[in-house]
Amino acid sequence: MKSDCFGYKKGRCAVLEKKKGIEDCYGCPFYKTVEENALGRKKAVDRILQLDSETRDRIILKYYGGNYKLLLGGN
Ligand code: SF4
Repeated sequence: MKSDCFGYKKGRCAVLEKKKGIEDCYGCPFYKTVEENALGRKKAVDRILQLDSETRDRIILKYYGGNYKLLLGGN
Protein backbone atom coordinates (compact mmCIF):
# COMPACT_ATOMS: atom_id res chain seq x y z
CA MET A 1 0.00 0.00 0.00
CA LYS A 2 1.05 3.58 -0.51
CA SER A 3 1.45 4.76 3.05
CA ASP A 4 1.72 8.38 1.91
CA CYS A 5 -1.80 8.30 0.45
CA PHE A 6 -4.50 10.21 2.30
CA GLY A 7 -6.60 7.05 2.23
CA TYR A 8 -4.02 4.93 4.05
CA LYS A 9 -5.10 4.18 7.62
CA LYS A 10 -3.46 1.54 9.78
CA GLY A 11 -2.39 -0.64 6.88
CA ARG A 12 -5.72 -0.45 5.09
CA CYS A 13 -7.43 1.78 2.60
CA ALA A 14 -10.11 3.89 4.25
CA VAL A 15 -11.31 5.26 0.91
CA LEU A 16 -12.09 1.95 -0.72
CA GLU A 17 -13.28 0.27 2.47
CA LYS A 18 -15.54 -2.10 0.61
CA LYS A 19 -12.62 -3.50 -1.33
CA LYS A 20 -11.19 -5.35 1.62
CA GLY A 21 -7.93 -7.06 1.02
CA ILE A 22 -6.61 -4.48 -1.40
CA GLU A 23 -2.88 -4.66 -1.04
CA ASP A 24 -1.56 -2.92 -4.08
CA CYS A 25 -2.35 0.70 -4.81
CA TYR A 26 -0.79 0.54 -8.25
CA GLY A 27 -2.95 2.42 -10.72
CA CYS A 28 -5.48 3.54 -8.12
CA PRO A 29 -7.29 6.62 -9.48
CA PHE A 30 -7.94 7.89 -5.96
CA TYR A 31 -4.30 8.21 -4.93
CA LYS A 32 -3.45 11.63 -3.44
CA THR A 33 -1.02 12.65 -0.78
CA VAL A 34 -2.44 14.06 2.45
CA GLU A 35 -1.37 17.53 1.31
CA GLU A 36 -2.95 17.16 -2.13
CA ASN A 37 -6.17 15.98 -0.55
CA ALA A 38 -6.25 18.89 1.92
CA LEU A 39 -5.63 21.39 -0.87
CA GLY A 40 -8.32 19.85 -3.06
CA ARG A 41 -10.77 19.89 -0.18
CA LYS A 42 -9.97 23.53 0.57
CA LYS A 43 -10.55 24.49 -3.06
CA ALA A 44 -13.89 22.67 -3.09
CA VAL A 45 -15.02 24.34 0.16
CA ASP A 46 -13.92 27.76 -1.08
CA ARG A 47 -15.87 27.21 -4.30
CA ILE A 48 -19.01 26.16 -2.41
CA LEU A 49 -18.75 29.20 -0.13
CA GLN A 50 -18.67 31.49 -3.18
CA LEU A 51 -21.96 30.16 -4.54
CA ASP A 52 -25.24 31.96 -4.06
CA SER A 53 -26.89 31.10 -0.75
CA GLU A 54 -29.65 28.97 -2.28
CA THR A 55 -27.22 26.76 -4.20
CA ARG A 56 -24.82 26.61 -1.27
CA ASP A 57 -27.58 25.57 1.14
CA ARG A 58 -28.79 22.90 -1.29
CA ILE A 59 -25.28 21.41 -1.55
CA ILE A 60 -24.78 21.53 2.21
CA LEU A 61 -28.11 19.81 2.74
CA LYS A 62 -27.42 17.13 0.13
CA TYR A 63 -23.78 16.32 0.86
CA TYR A 64 -23.32 17.42 4.47
CA GLY A 65 -26.73 16.61 5.91
CA GLY A 66 -27.42 20.32 6.35
CA ASN A 67 -24.54 20.62 8.80
CA TYR A 68 -22.60 23.73 7.83
CA LYS A 69 -19.83 22.86 10.29
CA LEU A 70 -19.14 19.60 8.43
CA LEU A 71 -18.44 21.58 5.29
CA LEU A 72 -15.88 23.60 7.19
CA GLY A 73 -14.26 20.45 8.59
CA GLY A 74 -15.82 20.49 12.04
CA ASN A 75 -18.13 17.98 13.69
S1 SF4 B 1 -3.88 4.65 -3.48
FE1 SF4 B 1 -6.03 4.10 -3.61
S2 SF4 B 1 -6.19 2.02 -2.75
FE2 SF4 B 1 -4.24 2.92 -2.09
S3 SF4 B 1 -4.65 3.83 -0.09
FE3 SF4 B 1 -4.89 5.44 -1.65
S4 SF4 B 1 -7.05 5.45 -2.16
FE4 SF4 B 1 -6.61 3.53 -1.12
